[in-house]
Amino acid sequence: MDALRDSLATQPVTALKGVGPKSAERLARLGIESVQDLLFHLPLRYQDRTRVVPVGSLRPGDQAVVEVEVEQADIRFGRRRSLLVKVSDGTGSLMLRFFHFSAAQKQALARGTRLRCFGEVRNGPAQYELVHPEYQRLQDDNPAPVEEALTPIYPTTEGMHQLSWRDLTDKALVLLQAGGALQELLPAPVLRRFALPSLPAAIELLHRPPPDISLQLLSDKGHPAQRRLAFEELLAHQLSLRLLRARQRQHGAPVVAADTANGLAQRLLEGLPFHLTGAQARVAAQILRDLGNGYPMMRLVQGDVGCGKTVVAALAAAYLIQDGWQVALMAPTELLAEQHRNNFVEWFEPLGIAVGWLSGRHKGKRRAAILEALASGELPLVVGTHALFQEDVRFARLGLAIIDEQHRFGVHQRLALRNKGGELTPHQLIMTATPIPRTLAMTAYADLDLSVIDELPPGRTPVKTVVVSDQRRDEIIRRVGENCRQGRQAYWVCTLIEESEALQCQAAEDTAALLAETLPALRVGLVHGRMKAAEKEAVMQAFKAGDIDLLVATTVIEVGMDVPNASLMVIENAERLGLAQLHQLRGRVGRGSQESHCVLMYHPPLGQLAQARLGMMRESTDGFAIAQKDLELRGPGEVLGTRQTGEVQFRIADLVRDRELVPQVQALADELLRDEDLVQALIHRWLGERVNYSVV
Ligand code: ADP
Ligand code: MG
Repeated sequence: MDALRDSLATQPVTALKGVGPKSAERLARLGIESVQDLLFHLPLRYQDRTRVVPVGSLRPGDQAVVEVEVEQADIRFGRRRSLLVKVSDGTGSLMLRFFHFSAAQKQALARGTRLRCFGEVRNGPAQYELVHPEYQRLQDDNPAPVEEALTPIYPTTEGMHQLSWRDLTDKALVLLQAGGALQELLPAPVLRRFALPSLPAAIELLHRPPPDISLQLLSDKGHPAQRRLAFEELLAHQLSLRLLRARQRQHGAPVVAADTANGLAQRLLEGLPFHLTGAQARVAAQILRDLGNGYPMMRLVQGDVGCGKTVVAALAAAYLIQDGWQVALMAPTELLAEQHRNNFVEWFEPLGIAVGWLSGRHKGKRRAAILEALASGELPLVVGTHALFQEDVRFARLGLAIIDEQHRFGVHQRLALRNKGGELTPHQLIMTATPIPRTLAMTAYADLDLSVIDELPPGRTPVKTVVVSDQRRDEIIRRVGENCRQGRQAYWVCTLIEESEALQCQAAEDTAALLAETLPALRVGLVHGRMKAAEKEAVMQAFKAGDIDLLVATTVIEVGMDVPNASLMVIENAERLGLAQLHQLRGRVGRGSQESHCVLMYHPPLGQLAQARLGMMRESTDGFAIAQKDLELRGPGEVLGTRQTGEVQFRIADLVRDRELVPQVQALADELLRDEDLVQALIHRWLGERVNYSVV
């Protein structure tokens, strides 16, 4: 097996005839280094050049081969000089249009010349046209053969032509047929059980599909050869996460005994002004069980906005602090971290537990003092941002790391906490308010145990949502005025296309000024990402205290704001935000008992996709249903928020299209996990260097 792995890894593209250092460099730009990589560089689409199509049957958009005779060739001098060649085949006529041509070319296209052309059919001013078709002259006595297989079109890079790709893949396929370039890794019984074609057969078919194959099936990625590859990729991915999990379980972790754990937690509960919901209590019990296992808990708690995850996290913290362990709570934004700190201070300080605070803005002495208190073990609990991941942050006895809004932190950041715990590995509790559809969660988070808080605290009324064009802005402003005159509060959220924070903040400032002018009776506040932490804090506190009626904000309030009296939210340019983000934002209202409203304002015209998305928001307040829709409309990268970090990117598989493969793949992963060589070979093939276990 080692030899096998070596041969897979080391047969470089330069082993192919005609591939020198220059081509190798171009290929490397696409991540293609080995012959195997090249074989996995599959066509984007295919052209059918295997048949000659009658001109009379062509439709715009078709890509087709036609055989025609020239009727007339003229040069037109219009806006753009062009050569127009009228051709026909007895079933219909067609115009060939060239913008670049030579005199000799025109000469050669004399009336009566027979041509075979390939191109895409477009609507022209008078009739269908082929613009710059590929063409060749047909001599009467030697009609050239048409192609025998569909023509693959490869994703490419500068300086690489389709002909070169075909030539390269031809050579790689010869090696493949000789059995040297690619090994079947799946055992024969597995192939039989899931009715999968062999890997070499699947790869070969996708590079050179036979003419009788359905192009539609191929472009929908539904062909068995494509599903074969998706299956193997999903399997490799699943195995890598399982392996990660298995290795985690070999580490020791603090053990919290269930019968003694409840002292501090009990007192915390007694101090709360509410009872836990059934779902909260269930998840807290799951966590307590995990803490007794002796290996690190890795649990993801999902729950819709407002379901009360924070208090569950606080209970988990209490279980460990009671036994003398330290706990760190991390949030992705300053505002969210501050909100957590406020909650934890309120809940823990009356119980005599100090709450530390570490953000990126802390420098110098204050930072040094916190670091010292963590390193000495004096500080039991700390809340902060990414700053907690930094290398100089050390804990004497870190027992639990709580990570809020997991989707913004990557697996590797999560693992970076590993080294901070001393001899034992800290438990990890990860909380996300972005509900992730089950198949996706099982795939993306196969290294985690999943809990769902699927119940909202009693007394909430669902938010009513309307979708309104921004041409009705004045009307909406009046509505905000009325809402606030009745003693309730409102949010006005500004978004922009540009990701630039400066521009967003500017827009929010302008809007706040405009609203203050239009609604002079209201107290208008402003919060955005460029304000100093203390300023933001002051504004938020004022809003919470009811001293501000209308809070104008950028999307920084997406998470973190909890003001039950706020009952109206206006979101500008709602069509530009993802569903998950809209759902998060909207979750800031509807936290009290009065009826709440959300106005999704869009800038017309609204495209079809945007219409579907905003329609979904209007019809549903169920985070899981919304996430499922988001997944279908935008793909898993967006839902998981990992596009930037490059995680969960599949080369071939698609979690929406291939979702029914997931349960099969999971079952199989369990069986194969023991075969370590196989597991390694699969992971190496599909994930390569992307997996780094050195931190585990
Ligand atoms: P999220 O799950 O979105 O993080 P939070 O933890 O911020 O939600 O809780 C939202 C609000 O609900 C907070 O004001 C919190 O105090 C309150 N809350 C949490 N649990 C309950 C409960 N069981 N009953 C009533 N209110 C609760
Ligand atoms: Mg929260």
